Amino acid sequence: MKYREAMRPGLGAGLSQALSALLTVLLLAPKPAAAQEKLQVVASLPVFAAIAEQLTGDLAEVVEIARGDEDPHFVQPRPSYAAIVGRADLFIATGLDLEMWAPTVIDRARNSAIVEGSPGHVVTYTGIKLLEVPETVSRAGGDVHAFGNPHIHTDPINAIIIARNILSGLRRVDPANAATYEANTHDFQDRVMRRLFGDQLVEMLGAETIFRLARNYEFWEFARNQTYQGKPLTEYLGGWLAEGAPFRGRRMACYHKNWSYFSARFQIECAAYMEPKPGIPPTPGHVRDVIEIMRNEHIPVLFAANYFSRAQVERVASRTGAVPIMVPLDVRGAEGVDTYFDLIDLWVSRLAETYATLDQPGDN
Ligand SMILES: [Zn+2]
Repeated sequence: MKYREAMRPGLGAGLSQALSALLTVLLLAPKPAAAQEKLQVVASLPVFAAIAEQLTGDLAEVVEIARGDEDPHFVQPRPSYAAIVGRADLFIATGLDLEMWAPTVIDRARNSAIVEGSPGHVVTYTGIKLLEVPETVSRAGGDVHAFGNPHIHTDPINAIIIARNILSGLRRVDPANAATYEANTHDFQDRVMRRLFGDQLVEMLGAETIFRLARNYEFWEFARNQTYQGKPLTEYLGGWLAEGAPFRGRRMACYHKNWSYFSARFQIECAAYMEPKPGIPPTPGHVRDVIEIMRNEHIPVLFAANYFSRAQVERVASRTGAVPIMVPLDVRGAEGVDTYFDLIDLWVSRLAETYATLDQPGDN
């Protein structure tokens, strides 16, 4: 940061003088120094890194700590993580104690710029309407969702709020590039809205109107009750929500409460959970109960993040006739899932294909 500020010619300098000075610096600067000059952004999870990459482009070096195929609750802090966080200008995490390991890493990093409450610390859940918030904060029985459901990124509307929180952090630590970050955030929001609702609806209503309705969970009611040229607005849906039609209003069984925000957005309910409580591995007795519920209620899919036991998921699915679907919870959690868009594409397409097949005559 400081190095970059020093390189910038003063406003009072003549243009040609400034340009020649800049040219000299560019020609003489060794390549490693140019790399160090970039803003250092460290994210707890790949999804935040992926969103930060969209906002910063070439202006920052963005790294993540957790892998996309590991349980975000239970990442083992390694000494190398402290070294990474030690160099950070900006640190991004959910908050809500999802990253129970983050305080240890921050403590070891000894970097005052990114400690909680400092300008270089971004909490991504700010402004998100939290689901499953308990009346009293309690870890009774080992529940790891003590402050409400922390898997906020599973709803693309929340991805926009996450991006805005990251933007606030970028503005604080690198105000000189604020205009670029703002333009990139606007572009990211626009792409998310178009991918979620389709171009037609976004152009009819405006992205900000739909965003406000969706953020308050008022979109579906609005779209079903309002008409345009004699047809309800749902008829004009495109994007992920249109692709999700085969599973809208359906039920599935889930391993962990990973999908609550996805469920609320796409209208697919997790009707049973493999875990008796978030973070508590299933006991044989609980697994028997889940199998009974799935059989009795004809729940056709068992949806799980790919860091859970594939053998166990497949065993339960085979005993209930359900289709097991295992997906990465996070970006870079599987081959080809490199961006936030890839991640949601994968969840929506896997579920849509499966439920569409179930509905074929002759099946079931
Ligand atoms: Zn969880």
